[in-house]
Amino acid sequence: MNKKHTHTLTFRIIAGMALGLLLGILLNSIGVSGWVDTWLVNGILDVGGRIFISLLKLLVVPLVFVSLVVGTASLEDVGKVGRLGVKTLALYLSTTAIAIILAISMGVLVQPGKGLDLVANQTYEPKAAPPLSDIFVNIIPSNPIRALADGEMLQIIFFAIFFGIALAMSKKKGERLLHLFQDLDHIIMQMVMILIQFAPYGVFFLIAKVFAQQGFSAVLPLAKYFFLTLAVLILHWLVVYPTLLKLIAGLNPFTFFRKFKGVPVFAFSTSSSNATIPVTLENVITKLGVSNSVASFTVPLGATINMDGTAIMQGVATVFIAQVYNVDISLSGYAMVVITATLASIGTAGVPGVGLITLAMVLRQVNLPVEGIALIIGVDRLLDMARTVVNVTGDATVSCIVAKSEGQIDLGIYNSPIKSSDTETV
Ligand code: ASP
Repeated sequence: MNKKHTHTLTFRIIAGMALGLLLGILLNSIGVSGWVDTWLVNGILDVGGRIFISLLKLLVVPLVFVSLVVGTASLEDVGKVGRLGVKTLALYLSTTAIAIILAISMGVLVQPGKGLDLVANQTYEPKAAPPLSDIFVNIIPSNPIRALADGEMLQIIFFAIFFGIALAMSKKKGERLLHLFQDLDHIIMQMVMILIQFAPYGVFFLIAKVFAQQGFSAVLPLAKYFFLTLAVLILHWLVVYPTLLKLIAGLNPFTFFRKFKGVPVFAFSTSSSNATIPVTLENVITKLGVSNSVASFTVPLGATINMDGTAIMQGVATVFIAQVYNVDISLSGYAMVVITATLASIGTAGVPGVGLITLAMVLRQVNLPVEGIALIIGVDRLLDMARTVVNVTGDATVSCIVAKSEGQIDLGIYNSPIKSSDTETV
């Protein structure tokens, strides 16, 4: 295959995004109403986008369960599972804490809400965020079949690891089933590859709809908040992750971003780390060389509990709302925000808009009015897209760092040039 074909798929996906963006902005500027609204925006674009998300989501549960069973069963001893778990959790929590500290510091420095006379013109009905204690108890499924049916990610992860450990301990008796799971894993990965081929269209539909409905008019009054959040997201994305990759794992960050570049487009257009799991997992294994056992554990876990981008939004939003309402937050108050937002990130599901719901939990910790959320709701859809990119990049970064420390990364694959077969994947 010649060079011209090398980036075809990634190029087509990015082209789909650019065209979607153009169409969306165009539609928004001429006004979305009448048949444009009924047939185009809430018709073709909506249906196309929803079909694509459903296709991605349909693979999440079988993929996570099967690949995690295979991954755990192939770790030689149970002690490794525990070590992997502790390491991964520690890294996920620390990257989130770094993210929120960065966000608060920038918020205090730039003061995006200072002097703004914004009255919340929409009332915000806070939805109940789950109490933290429930999150921990609920990790253990009382009925694993229901957990699978409901797509309860933490419960699925728990059950798959438990099952995988037992499968490994069964030695000879478990061999047949292990082979069956390995075959299933292969087949589901093939399904991911097939699906990825439709990504240019899916991305086009999703992006065109969001921008047709959103436009940029909501951004103007909140420009300082919007651009500050965006700037911190970019800082974390392009400075913190590369630094961690280089310093802790000695991995070349440029190679990481070159290989990973297709995945952020999925995160951006779906606004869901969860729906992006199949693509992240496929990329981390085939492009970045992380072993199946580490990737199948770290990626789904990260998509569920690691939300650095969301924590950044919550940090800037807290400072912003405090400034608009003229409330002073003490140093210990900020420390509370760091702790709560880091823990809230565990309870934030990787689906669109949930970060705003768990923000209520953070605001309550420092006695800020939850109605303050109404101030920022208008620009949240756009920020959600950007923060989901950071969320999934954080998952892949930690996956690589953990894999490197466990000797579970194939540096030959990580450092290899992008092959022509990559036309099939992103
Ligand atoms: N949309 C984000 C994600 O899926 C979560 C959020 O911040 O709302 O990662």
